[in-house]
Amino acid sequence: MRTTVGIIGAGPAGLLLARLLHGAGIDSVVLEARDRAYVEHRQRAGILEQGTVDVLRAAGAGARMDREGLRHDGIELRFGRRRHRVDFPALTGGRSVMVYAQTEVCKDLIALQLAEGGPLLFGAEALAVEGAGTATPRVRFRHQGREDVLECDYVAGCDGFWGVSRAAVPAEVSRVFERRYPFGWLGVLADVPPSHDELVYARHDRGFALLSMRSPSVSRLYLQVPEGTEPEEWSDEDVWRELERRFETDDGWTLARGPLTQKSVTPMRSFVHEPMRHGRLFLAGDAAHIVPPTGAKGLNLAVGDVVTLARALVHRRETGSAALLDAYSETCLRRVWQAERFSYDMTTLLHRAPDATAFEDRLQLARLERIASSRAARTDLAEAYTGFPLDLPRSEGRAAAAGANGRSPAGSGRVPGRSWFEVPR
Ligand SMILES: Cc1cc2nc3c(=O)[nH]c(=O)nc-3n(C[C@H](O)[C@H](O)[C@H](O)COP(=O)(O)OP(=O)(O)OC[C@H]3O[C@@H](n4cnc5c(N)ncnc54)[C@H](O)[C@@H]3O)c2cc1C
Repeated sequence: MRTTVGIIGAGPAGLLLARLLHGAGIDSVVLEARDRAYVEHRQRAGILEQGTVDVLRAAGAGARMDREGLRHDGIELRFGRRRHRVDFPALTGGRSVMVYAQTEVCKDLIALQLAEGGPLLFGAEALAVEGAGTATPRVRFRHQGREDVLECDYVAGCDGFWGVSRAAVPAEVSRVFERRYPFGWLGVLADVPPSHDELVYARHDRGFALLSMRSPSVSRLYLQVPEGTEPEEWSDEDVWRELERRFETDDGWTLARGPLTQKSVTPMRSFVHEPMRHGRLFLAGDAAHIVPPTGAKGLNLAVGDVVTLARALVHRRETGSAALLDAYSETCLRRVWQAERFSYDMTTLLHRAPDATAFEDRLQLARLERIASSRAARTDLAEAYTGFPLDLPRSEGRAAAAGANGRSPAGSGRVPGRSWFEVPR
């Protein structure tokens, strides 16, 4: 089997990359280890940044999102039994986010790929990426009980944190930056309309809680729990009682209860693998980096990576220049580290570490008070939450070293007439 771009993984990164390449006339094959139902029903992200929304629309995958997604113009921070709204459009010059579940993004992209795109093989597990440092990389994979080889010009490792592609980067060039947190999130889906029309991020002495939603009739709620907690340790009654405690306010706000349809625990981790490229292998999404979900950045980073990669591949084909491919890792990592910083800040702002001292508790409250009382602090949060630009400029110090105008040596990589190239973030 042969293709131009071999894509490992049909999560949001792999599926969107295939879609963008198809629109640009570049062929690809997507290998996905699991079956279609699994990919379409795995509950994960729910918040799409403005830039992600724009890219999905430009890729022709935004119709159902625009009908069924919920535009959100802010979030609520809750602490000390009081509520504080962060108004995104007012603070960012009009930007907002969209609540539309990752499962739905994947369903839309899978339907488009099967109807119009190149091969998408479910139950096709990549075993190894070989020859990444050569001009003829290959993916060895198993499909329907048989081993096969996908020969490619380029390989996109979009196989998530537990995939095989990262291992193809030689140990002597890999650098890993990691932090684990001593808590996780117990997430539940509840068949009940959300009790608030925007997300509520609650800091409480008993731990963090998040009120989110999947649709006007389905709530998604999370509780900070100790690392290693099993979902079965929490009865439905325990979950509701604890949520009610952590969301409690002085103004009589109440949390509506309903049947819980799913319970799971997510560990919290920050992780970055550098570089994101080795030869003709490009890592994208969770294969290269993980953020704790508090900042709602994981899926959005995956989208940023694959837009950057698709631009670079089209640029290569249309100009013969590999400059954007060469700049891929550095371009993505600038944005990745900003998202890492923001996700870490949000996590440490809102969660209670098991060994937190009274001094650290007071500092955490002071950080929250600062956001509640300062427009500048709220603006910083709102800018990060609604999303960083894809072409995040270098800082002035590094720009001076890189060249007078501070731009990537590869230029903007924009190709006229193709709308997702113009998406500003
Ligand atoms: C509880 C939770 C809440 C979250 N909330 C948010 C949020 O609100 N906003 C946000 O932006 N992000 C959020 N995230 C993060 C987001 O879900 C991930 O960052 C996103 O799924 C990354 O997409 P991906 O395509 O890179 O990887 P994945 O979605 O992990 O997809 C990788 C795919 O590769 C496949 N695969 C793995 N190994 C192989 C192999 N060897 N061969 C073939 N296929 C393989 C897997 O089966 C999978 O389908 C959340 C995550 C969790 C867990």
